[in-house]
Amino acid sequence: MWYLTEDREAILTSVREFVRNEVAPLALQVDRTDKFPLGLFKRAGELGLLGLTVPAEFGGIGADQTTNALALEEIAKTLPVLTVAMGAHSLLAGGLIEMLGTADQKKQYLVPAATGETVLACASTEAVGGDNQAEFSTRAVLDGDEWVLDGCKVLISNIGVADVYVVVAVTADHIEPVTKAGISTFLVPAGTSGVAVGSPEHKLGWHGSATGSVTFTAFRVPKENLLGPLGGCLEAMFVSATAEFLSCGPVRLGIAEGAYAMALAYSLERAQQGQTMFDRFQVTRHKLVRMYGEIESLRALVYSTYAERDRGDLCLAQGRLLKVKGAEVSEYVAREAIQLFGGVGTVVETGVERYWRDAKVMAIGGASVEALMDVIAGLIKERLA
Ligand SMILES: Cc1cc2nc3c(=O)[nH]c(=O)nc-3n(C[C@H](O)[C@H](O)[C@H](O)COP(=O)(O)OP(=O)(O)OC[C@H]3O[C@@H](n4cnc5c(N)ncnc54)[C@H](O)[C@@H]3O)c2cc1C
Repeated sequence: MWYLTEDREAILTSVREFVRNEVAPLALQVDRTDKFPLGLFKRAGELGLLGLTVPAEFGGIGADQTTNALALEEIAKTLPVLTVAMGAHSLLAGGLIEMLGTADQKKQYLVPAATGETVLACASTEAVGGDNQAEFSTRAVLDGDEWVLDGCKVLISNIGVADVYVVVAVTADHIEPVTKAGISTFLVPAGTSGVAVGSPEHKLGWHGSATGSVTFTAFRVPKENLLGPLGGCLEAMFVSATAEFLSCGPVRLGIAEGAYAMALAYSLERAQQGQTMFDRFQVTRHKLVRMYGEIESLRALVYSTYAERDRGDLCLAQGRLLKVKGAEVSEYVAREAIQLFGGVGTVVETGVERYWRDAKVMAIGGASVEALMDVIAGLIKERLA
C-alpha cells in the first residue's frame, strides 16, 4: 500500500500481534457479555496505542495521524467496540485536553491517559438539544474559587470506567446564537460525591462501550478545572471533533473488511449442489465483488484524506465525509455479509451479524450522519463563497 512506510509498518506489526493474540480470543465474549473490555483497553495503553499521536512530552508516541488510522482499522476488523472506547478517550476527551489544556492540565490529565493509566470520557450530549448545545441545561456557576455544576448528560461512552470526564456546560445566562458563545468545558474527576453515573444502556451494537448517563448535583470543582476559554469552547470542539469523525473512516473500513473476510471465506467453503457457493452462484461472486469495490473505494478515500491531514489540513469537511461514507460502506458490506451466510449469519455465535449492529450504531453515535451532512454542506458553500 502506498501509505505504508517503515515506521508505520513497525507499529502495524505490533498492533496485528496484539489483535491476533489478545483481542481476537475475547471479541465474541465482549459482545455477548456487554462488559467494558478494561483489560484490553489497558493493554492498548501499554502498547502506546492510546497516545499514538500525543507528543512525547505528554506521554505519547508522537506518531502521525495515518499511523493512528492504521491501528484503528486493524483493531476494528476484529473488535470495533475497542476503537469506540479508544476514540472517546483519546480523540473526544483527550483531543480537547490537548487542544485547550494548559501545560499543567496536560501534564496532569493527558500524560496518564496516553498510557492508559487513567480512562477519559467526554460528556456533551443531553436529552434535549441534540447537536444544538445552546439548548443544553447543564450549568456551571462560579462560586468563590469553585465552579458548581448541575445537570444531566446522556448516552456518554466509557461511563463507570472513566476516571475523568470532560464536561460541556453552559456558563452564561445569554448564549450568543450564531457562535453559541457562552458554553465551556470542565475537567471533572469521577468517583466524588455529586457525580452520579447511571447503568450502561442495553444497545443494538457497541456492546461493551459502557454508554449511559452522568448526573451532576451541586458538584464543585476548583476554578482551575475550567478547560479552555470561558464561554468559548465550541469552536475548539468543532475542530477537535473532526479527529473523531476522521477516525470513523478507518474504523468503518475495518468493520467492512472484517465482515467481508468472513463472508468470502464462507462462500469459498460452503457447498451448495456439489460446488462451493462462490463457484455455484454468479450472484454470490457479484455480491463479493461489489463489497470488495466499496471497501477499496473507502480505503482510497480514508488514506488520501489522512495524507491531507498529516500535511496540516484540518479536513473539516473531508473528516466529516469519512464518517458519512464509512457508515454507508460498513452498513452495506456488513448487511451483505449476513445475507451470504444465510441462516447462520443471523446467529450471534457465528460472529458476523455484530459487524452490522456496530456499523448501524456508528451512523448515530458521536453525531448522526444527517446532522453531519448539513455541516458538510455549509463548509462546501463557505469554500465557494
Ligand atoms: C452508543 C452511543 C455512544 C455515544 N457516546 C457519546 C459520548 O461519549 N459523548 C457524548 O457527548 N455523546 C455521545 N453519544 C451521543 C451522540 O453523539 C448523539 O446520540 C448523536 O449526536 C445524536 O444526537 P441525539 O441522540 O440527541 O439525536 P437527535 O439530535 O434527537 O437526532 C435524531 C435524528 O434527527 C436527525 N437530525 C438531528 N439533527 C439533525 C440535523 N442538524 N440535521 C439533519 N438531521 C438531523 C437525525 O436523523 C438524527 O439521527 C453517543 C451516542 C450513542 C448512540
